[in-house]
Amino acid sequence: MSVTEIAAPAPALALLQNDELQGILDLLNGNGEEARLVGGAVRNALLGKPVSEFDIATTATPETVAARAQAANLRAVPTGLAHGTVTVIIDGHPFEVTSLREDIETDGRHAVVRFNRDFAADAQRRDFTMNALSLSREGVLYDYVGGLDDIAAKILRFIGDPAARIKEDYLRVLRFFRFSAGYAEGPLDAEGLLACIRARDGLARLSRERVRNEVLKLLAAPRAGEITREMSQAGLLGPLLASAPNPRRLENLLNLRSGEQADPVLNLAALCLNLPEDAHRLREKLRLSNPEHQRLVKAADALETLHDFDTPPDERGLLTLLFRYGRRGACDALLLAASHARDDAALWRKALGFLRDAKEPRLPFGGNDLLARGIKDGKAVGETLRLLEARWIEAGFPEDAETLRIILDQAVQLDRD
Ligand code: ATP
Ligand code: MG
Repeated sequence: MSVTEIAAPAPALALLQNDELQGILDLLNGNGEEARLVGGAVRNALLGKPVSEFDIATTATPETVAARAQAANLRAVPTGLAHGTVTVIIDGHPFEVTSLREDIETDGRHAVVRFNRDFAADAQRRDFTMNALSLSREGVLYDYVGGLDDIAAKILRFIGDPAARIKEDYLRVLRFFRFSAGYAEGPLDAEGLLACIRARDGLARLSRERVRNEVLKLLAAPRAGEITREMSQAGLLGPLLASAPNPRRLENLLNLRSGEQADPVLNLAALCLNLPEDAHRLREKLRLSNPEHQRLVKAADALETLHDFDTPPDERGLLTLLFRYGRRGACDALLLAASHARDDAALWRKALGFLRDAKEPRLPFGGNDLLARGIKDGKAVGETLRLLEARWIEAGFPEDAETLRIILDQAVQLDRD
């Protein structure tokens, strides 16, 4: 196997300036052990993308890692001992430290692992070439599988034979698209794509938590629109989601929101939310959290009130949406409707700007106003309040005391009649 060992380029070297990272590398290097930064952090630094977490691989066994952490008064949590992973916490920052190892045998359920000192084998076991770089404390960058070339060419490529690698773990199908959407450019690697399509049936074996994680990360990636279109055409997306995916709507949404922070749950809605029941199905399929599910239900409810996707509602319609569904529900629904609409993006943008800035209307009446005017407690109060609300909405959400008094008087009068 060929290995490229080079002095790390500046962006990778800059990672080593991080004090906590330096601390952990100092802790785990020396006395016959070696530790390196591996995986996503090295990749992202070289691609000029933000780095969110540091993963460390080491020749030290988990016991040694824990012992060294303890000796340095650091907390070490055995997060995945079966895989040889210990999380070491420095100044509140968690570092996943994984001992180099190989699978000796698998009986289908338990893997028997043996720890070793082989960084090359560790690289080979990873999924994609750009995920397999490692960086030593001294600033040497190690590339065993051609990851540097692929980073330079912005190609996401499996390490080894794609079909064989997918058989080891079907999640790699989703990871292929996720990383392609985040870090690659141009067409998908043809061999990888073909292997993913052939492995379609294997997706059903994956736990919903793992699928959820990958799908939401994919939807947060810059190329989410075009990559979900590819997946959908390959028949890989529909089975994971609630209803037939609509990548076109997602692409429209991403265009409308270009420059704004990625919103994976909203992107999921654009991809396959049409009715409230879709929200329920998505919750099941992707194990959505309660707040995520609630958000989708609200968006779907609000969307149903927007019958006409050709033009946005007028200002009163927008305020009604805001009043009934809150700012986020209203904005979500408007964005989804706009992504359906064929043209007039400027008009929809203007409506969205209005929704974002408008004061959220609050019903300026309560039960006490009615009781004070002699309406008996109980059913009549509730009914009159509903009537009041309708009148107030119809009048365009007035706030001045005189208009409110008139609306109130009329409603009370109606109740008496
Ligand atoms: P992110 O920034 O999205 O976390 P990452 O590269 O850190 O990107 P992780 O899912 O956190 O992605 O995985 C960390 C590393 O572990 C990967 O870069 C890869 O080398 C390896 N890895 C993770 N999952 C797999 C897998 N299913 N098969 C093979 N290697 C994997
Ligand atoms: Mg990671």
